[in-house]
Amino acid sequence: MPLARDVAEEVAKQYGVCIRPVPLKRLDTHTGLWEIIDVPCGATLEVKCLPCAKRNRHLRMAQCREGWHLDEEPTITPDEPNDEQRWLVEFRADVQAQRDQADQDTTDLDELIAGLDEEINAAGMRGNVLGRTVPKRNRSTRRRQDAPELPKRKMTATTLGRTFESADGKTYRPSLFVTLTLPSYGKVNNGVPVNPDTYDYARAARDALHFSKLVDRFVQNLRRVAGYDVQYFAAVEPQKRLAPHLHMAIRGTLPRAEIKQIAAATYHQVWWPATDRVVFDGDHLPVWEDGTGYLDPGTGEVLPTWDQALDQLDTDETAEPLHVIRFGVQVDVQGVLAGTPDADQCIRYLSKYLTKSLGDSLDPDDQAQRDHAARLAEALRFEPCSPNCPNWLRYGVQPKGAKPGMAPGQCRSKAHKPDHLGYAGRRVLVSRKWSNKTLAEHKQDRRTWVLEALGQTDQPTDPHRYVWKPVPAGDANVPPLAVRLLRSVHERQRWRAHMAQLQAQADAQDLSATGEAA
Ligand SMILES: [Zn+2]
Ligand SMILES: [Zn+2]
Repeated sequence: MPLARDVAEEVAKQYGVCIRPVPLKRLDTHTGLWEIIDVPCGATLEVKCLPCAKRNRHLRMAQCREGWHLDEEPTITPDEPNDEQRWLVEFRADVQAQRDQADQDTTDLDELIAGLDEEINAAGMRGNVLGRTVPKRNRSTRRRQDAPELPKRKMTATTLGRTFESADGKTYRPSLFVTLTLPSYGKVNNGVPVNPDTYDYARAARDALHFSKLVDRFVQNLRRVAGYDVQYFAAVEPQKRLAPHLHMAIRGTLPRAEIKQIAAATYHQVWWPATDRVVFDGDHLPVWEDGTGYLDPGTGEVLPTWDQALDQLDTDETAEPLHVIRFGVQVDVQGVLAGTPDADQCIRYLSKYLTKSLGDSLDPDDQAQRDHAARLAEALRFEPCSPNCPNWLRYGVQPKGAKPGMAPGQCRSKAHKPDHLGYAGRRVLVSRKWSNKTLAEHKQDRRTWVLEALGQTDQPTDPHRYVWKPVPAGDANVPPLAVRLLRSVHERQRWRAHMAQLQAQADAQDLSATGEAA
């Protein structure tokens, strides 16, 4: 009944209830009962619905506000794992088991595992559940990137910026709002290349793919120059010309000229095998042989593995990095004072696009812009997005973790999808000691607040009480989506009514207290 479902979705949206909930089976080991629990999509792998995107945006704004002008050093002590973290890890273990047993295409499971690993880190757990499974490559020293020529202050063990006293003894805590942009790829008019034939799409594509690495380098350099453990909250957003750019709230302040100097000196080299020669194309593609890997279909020769290709690169004295990425000359630096309208506006600005995907900024009626997006997508089609990208086969190299069924142009990573414009990284980048809390902890704050308001305490649960399992697609025990949505709406209504009642009681008490005082 599609109609009922549409109505249920509309109602759910009005109540801010997730419309793409993920059903999970939960075993309560105390009662021995299995139950199906709807987890909001925003709490799992990827935000897929507007209500969750909006809720996450509000959490992000709170997180940004709390961290920006901290006046006390954050204390980072690992907390007891919470429910969310626990089920993520258990879920991860389960998917790993499925992956290990699978004898078919594991692309979906691999994607899910990669997403879960990211999510596990985002939920405030550090490191990888499996630990490092492969020893880290030791690159030849020649390849190591030099720190650029920049002033360097002595490092002090603080994350707080300087404060200033005014003549009347007031303390000011200034901070920065920085916007970093990628270079020009050719003249644009209203976001569209004036001459698409000379616009450097290849460079635009590679810059987008490696943008997050450049941001990492910028932060490293920033800390070195600043001489303290600079903290930041940043959002990656699309520009009209469809290149990613970055808004960054920085705790503490530095001279504007130094920020510009750091941006100008920052670069990142991508030491990957060369892609200037297409070796396999069209119907002429490498073939898979079990136990061996990918072979040249003509000669039967085994293609170099990813590690062999990197070793080869290391021994080649004349090798150049595949790509070098730098920022453009446009760097905007704004000084901001704690608690001013300016600060609030920056926070709104930072979270402005968080409910949208990068590609959402496309105007569907603007043909010129759509053509521009299509040309960028084409440039990304055969560009390797990661060591695991099947596109490496096109250039005669076996992707890292090669497996049967790979073909160039068929990578399923987000980076190649039109929605992502080459950038597959996180939209919000927050340093570890920003607000003292992870997003999961900010969520936890809200939960605690609600429970307190309801007159219940947030009982610490037995860590081994619940066992979580994914629900197989088409499981007959999962009610239709419309039913589940309406159930969630009902819960939300009940909760709101209860809150209204508590508020009314509190108001009445205030009133009588005022009366007594009078
Ligand atoms: Zn949702
Ligand atoms: Zn790829």
